[in-house]
Amino acid sequence: MSINNTQTQGDKPTYIDSMDVGQMIDLMATMGEKPYRGRQLYEWVHSKGARSIDEMTNLALPLREKLQGMVTFTTLKEVSRLTSKIDGTTKFLFELEDGLQVEAVMLSDKGRLTACVSCQVGCRMGCTFCETAKMGLRRNLTAGEMIQQVRCLQQFAQENTPDKLSNIVFMGMGEPLDNVVALKTALTVLVDPKAYNFSHRKITVSTSGIVSKIDTLTELEFPPTLAVSLHATNDRVRSQIMPINKAFPLEKLINKLAEITRGKRVRVTLEYIMLKGVNDSMEDAKELAKIAHRMNCKINLIPYNTGSSEFEPTDNEHILAFQKYLMNKGFKVFIRKSLGQDIMGACGQLYAEHNKEVPE
Ligand code: SAH
Ligand code: SF4
Repeated sequence: MSINNTQTQGDKPTYIDSMDVGQMIDLMATMGEKPYRGRQLYEWVHSKGARSIDEMTNLALPLREKLQGMVTFTTLKEVSRLTSKIDGTTKFLFELEDGLQVEAVMLSDKGRLTACVSCQVGCRMGCTFCETAKMGLRRNLTAGEMIQQVRCLQQFAQENTPDKLSNIVFMGMGEPLDNVVALKTALTVLVDPKAYNFSHRKITVSTSGIVSKIDTLTELEFPPTLAVSLHATNDRVRSQIMPINKAFPLEKLINKLAEITRGKRVRVTLEYIMLKGVNDSMEDAKELAKIAHRMNCKINLIPYNTGSSEFEPTDNEHILAFQKYLMNKGFKVFIRKSLGQDIMGACGQLYAEHNKEVPE
């Protein structure tokens, strides 16, 4: 890595909190400093939560001064915070340094706190049922911007609840596998016991199915749980509602998921949005069972959150029948509870990952 690239990309400053330990060691090496200095810097930034170089008192003053001229910290400005009166779900709107905004949501369910975070401003995948798609892609988030969302929500939990943030889902705005370099750095820092120390099993990355990028996650030392937005059981319907299916058709996606779940190193959840008259027939349930049979997975049925697109949600009783059919085939099938119904507004997909198994 060329350090000049790290420090300034064009006029952009170097964000210290976008770096993993290796990058910080490299940065220190360019200043003639030993690797342990990089590790100290890393500890300040990602473990002790330092927000300025000044605080790093075990670094010599001349080194701190040098660093001050070279690096900066990511700032997320909280512009709004809305808490659901129904279930305590809290939605945050953060302004980034360039004025763009992203959402993050704190989901609370029976003492379990989950941060739902964004990885891009907008998204270029064009799914027809999704509100974020309508924005197009404005830009990728940096690793620091993803980590800072988690940090802000963690702080919120500390100050306002008796519970600790334990789960993270990348189900906010954007397609994580369309921003895979920054995502990998963020994941590495979030699971590192010397940094945020989240269990990798409690981090879920949801993807629309960019098959060629899936291995970048499965090859990680601590791979997250993978959630895949399946949403249809044949290419005709899937390509209509998810244009990504034209590049990576169902068979390719299913084969990949079968391959990665074989060793059970990676857990996969199939997400299936229920769109009335589009993908919710009992024939679809049968086809979904056939697909799920080919891999080791659980299934999440997602009630459609109505937005500005033309779709209608499947009736609850029908979702239950769909679930029952699949459960009778022996699958673990959950219906996603959408928390914070009163505050979601125009947000297309910020949902509870908290799954509620509905009794038969
Ligand atoms: N881009 C990733 C992750 C973000 S979207 C992905 O598509 O998987 C998170 C989840 O919300 C996806 O399963 C997505 O299909 C779903 N979603 C999008 N719009 C929705 C809507 N209006 N109602 C219900 N779920 C929606
Ligand atoms: Fe992007 Fe996911 Fe929305 Fe599709 S559903 S447009 S991949 S955010």
